Amino acid sequence: MADVDLNQDKWPHPTRHDPAAFFRDVSPSWAVDAAACAPQKRSHKRCNRGGRMTAYDDQNIFAKILRGEIPSIKLYEDDDTYCFMDIMPRADGHCLVIPKTPCRNVLDASHDQLASAMKTVQLMSHAVMKAFGAEGVTLQQFNEDAGGQEVYHLHFHILPRHAGVSLRPPGKMAEMDVLNAQAAQIRAALE
Ligand code: AMP
Repeated sequence: MADVDLNQDKWPHPTRHDPAAFFRDVSPSWAVDAAACAPQKRSHKRCNRGGRMTAYDDQNIFAKILRGEIPSIKLYEDDDTYCFMDIMPRADGHCLVIPKTPCRNVLDASHDQLASAMKTVQLMSHAVMKAFGAEGVTLQQFNEDAGGQEVYHLHFHILPRHAGVSLRPPGKMAEMDVLNAQAAQIRAALE
């Protein structure tokens, strides 16, 4: 029998390979309302605006969240968009806004997808500012590997900011109870 390698640094990235394990303790009431999400009908939609043709992969982690296949910490949703906590937050209150319909990134987004996402980005920017007494908000959005994108479903990062406080380094998983408490603050700020 082969030795078990206990070096956790070599284990698969949890959000890419076993995201459900991280969300064992999430209340199902905050999972996305899968019934309200449009089915991923255009799973092979291609980008046609930049010359390079790139397929939408409907197995990406945010598509799975939208279909209710894995949980997430929901903050807000409407007919077209969904907002949830980033599990590796670079600031307290770091959250993500995504369209409910398939879209790889800005390069293949329709005007309607961009417009509805930006409306929710603005709504959630006000909410996180209020929830954390922030003095500003940083928005981030990445396109393709060279542009820093890791998850290939269009998403906008919303990061509440305080003067003189740097963003934390990427890639560090947050404690679930901390994320849930912060999510409750943001949801309250939306009311
Ligand atoms: P990027 O594509 O570079 O914008 O990075 C993807 C972002 O998604 C990172 O900030 C991750 O922390 C975040 N992320 C990855 N998996 C999940 C997940 N299951 N739930 C919430 N956020 C996630």
